[in-house]
Amino acid sequence: MSFVEYSEIIQEGDVVIIFLGHESMMPIKVQSGAQTQTRYGVIRHSSDLIGQRFGSKVTCSKGGWVYVLHPTPELWTVNLPHRTQILYTTDIANITLMLELKPGSVVCESGTGSGSLSHSILRTIAPTGHLHTVEFHAQRAEKAMQEFKEHKVSHLVTVRNQDVCKDGFGITGIADAVFLDIPSPWEAITHAKSAMKRKGGRLCSFSPCIEQVQRTCEALLDHGFEEICTLEVLLQVHDVRAVNLPLPDFGPEEGSDDSQEGVPNTGNTSVICRTAIPPREMAGHTGYLTFATKPRD
Ligand code: SAM
Repeated sequence: MSFVEYSEIIQEGDVVIIFLGHESMMPIKVQSGAQTQTRYGVIRHSSDLIGQRFGSKVTCSKGGWVYVLHPTPELWTVNLPHRTQILYTTDIANITLMLELKPGSVVCESGTGSGSLSHSILRTIAPTGHLHTVEFHAQRAEKAMQEFKEHKVSHLVTVRNQDVCKDGFGITGIADAVFLDIPSPWEAITHAKSAMKRKGGRLCSFSPCIEQVQRTCEALLDHGFEEICTLEVLLQVHDVRAVNLPLPDFGPEEGSDDSQEGVPNTGNTSVICRTAIPPREMAGHTGYLTFATKPRD
């Protein structure tokens, strides 16, 4: 199992997502002899997981069943252990596209945080790209390295435990794209620019507050960045359901037996149809995404 390549069969050491329902999933590490408790009963790793196909339905000891799913960056984002605030798929999808990431891209990121964005970047740039991710919190950097190893993507990523505002990304002139998710991104723009390739490249900074965005945009302008644009991505998930619609009564049909005045229409008065309903409430603001292009040197 790897987060960048699909495997058919579950093996010892793999990460598996146990799917109990859309709102209820958990990641587990498969270990022979180990057991996992769920509300449907116990899952025995040796007999219920190892050797089974990813995607199988597994019956637990109390008779209920779960699906055992192959991990993906999307599933990891909604199941990972939170060590920090994280980025979610709505923002990640936009970042990946607007940074023009593709297989082979060299990308810089700071901070690594809980590694939510890092996993999506890694899948996009595999098999030949590289992610240089910088995190100044020692335990978070250590944990991220350990997870990348367990997820079989460590050959695609270098984790540096340093302050990106003081020490930069540890590379010069080779990055195709830089992503910043730190409290003072404006202090890292000089390092971002020197990490980027001479032929340009794209930068994105995520900030929850507009004051941070203003300072970052000023720093980007001062350093000659172009095409600076800030946007906010809001997700609206429509709910598909059956609704009962009343039918209008236009009176009796002309020429029919019912056409005498005063005879009531005895046909159907409503019809059931499926429709998509927009949400009354929407998940609110996560942050602003500021994008910019580095001009060619
Ligand atoms: N984008 C990450 C994700 O999706 O999981 C979350 C990043 S989290 C909000 C911000 C991280 O930046 C924290 O782990 C923090 O320790 C790190 N950080 C803040 N300032 C930093 C700096 N100057 N240099 C390196 N890391 C920094």
